[in-house]
Amino acid sequence: RRRALLQRSVSGLLSEIRISINSECFTDHYTVIPGKELGRGKFAVVRKCVEKCTGQEYAAKFMRKRRKGQDCRMEIIHEIAVLELATASPKVVGLHEVYEMASEMVLVLEFAAGGEIFNQCVSHREDEAFTEEDVKRLMKQILEGVAFLHQNNIVHLDLKPQNILLTSSSPLGDIKIVDFGLSRRVCNHHELREIMGTPEYVAPEVLNYEPISTATDMWSIGVLAYVMLTGISPFLGEDKQETFLNISQLNVSYNEEELQQLDRTALSFIQTLLCKQPQDRATAEQCLRHPWLQSSNSQEIQTEEEILPLEDQVASSTTSSPECPSTTS
Ligand code: ADP
Ligand code: MG
Repeated sequence: RRRALLQRSVSGLLSEIRISINSECFTDHYTVIPGKELGRGKFAVVRKCVEKCTGQEYAAKFMRKRRKGQDCRMEIIHEIAVLELATASPKVVGLHEVYEMASEMVLVLEFAAGGEIFNQCVSHREDEAFTEEDVKRLMKQILEGVAFLHQNNIVHLDLKPQNILLTSSSPLGDIKIVDFGLSRRVCNHHELREIMGTPEYVAPEVLNYEPISTATDMWSIGVLAYVMLTGISPFLGEDKQETFLNISQLNVSYNEEELQQLDRTALSFIQTLLCKQPQDRATAEQCLRHPWLQSSNSQEIQTEEEILPLEDQVASSTTSSPECPSTTS
């Protein structure tokens, strides 16, 4: 009983939304594309659908209102409120409509056709894995989105390659940040402490039950940059315990072969974020001004590719092949 009460008073949730909730039948207005789901989490399943009156594609996130025997409508309302607040940022996925049924709510989201950046992060195929120039461009976009959220006192708290999507995968499009299920509003006079997030990406203060701030997201961005550049998850251990130990001991290797091949400023970028003390980490704005993201090494192939029309890019490019089917999960 006591536990239930404690869990109900989650701090940092927004409760006001402006979008009207549609109580009509979802499938009267949308055709759900049969077959593969776009994604699935503990309490949500995301499916591709088409709006009947416009023919426009969307991603519908079906969310259960009851989870582990508790009413979680408030949390869903918060997720809607954050998406609404972030409509001003093109780096955050757009929210088109909301439907409510007896046991579910449906968030009709802008469809990100390129899927998760996760797929390219772990790809061993030369033509699929990100180049350093790709990572720089995408990282700038991620930071712009996160800077916007932080300016509005929102912390995402679950930044990882599964929650960063792409508008298209080949040619590589732009990023869209999704999944505000763990996000919170932070304010100066109210401390937020919670244990949550995804083990590999979670910051030391979260593990130690110390105050959460915008710097908590910056840690995850450091891990994200590391993974995007190397395909290696820097703190991942054999099990959760080992992962947590690696994080709290800052047990991270900067000697990996994949890192040695990079611009030296890339390493310093990661190191300004993977600091134990939250106050020592760079902010999103500072990251955007970091030398690594300032220097566009476009003397190489990039400038030529940017000028050429798409057809010529395909013919001249040796590093990417847009005709290859992408392996979205
Ligand atoms: P959860 O809270 O269950 O993790 P997410 O919002 O992260 O839910 O969605 C789960 C997965 O569904 C994502 O990792 C992604 O693969 C897919 N997905 C979510 N939103 C979209 C979208 N707008 N377009 C395409 N795929 C999406
Ligand atoms: Mg997710």
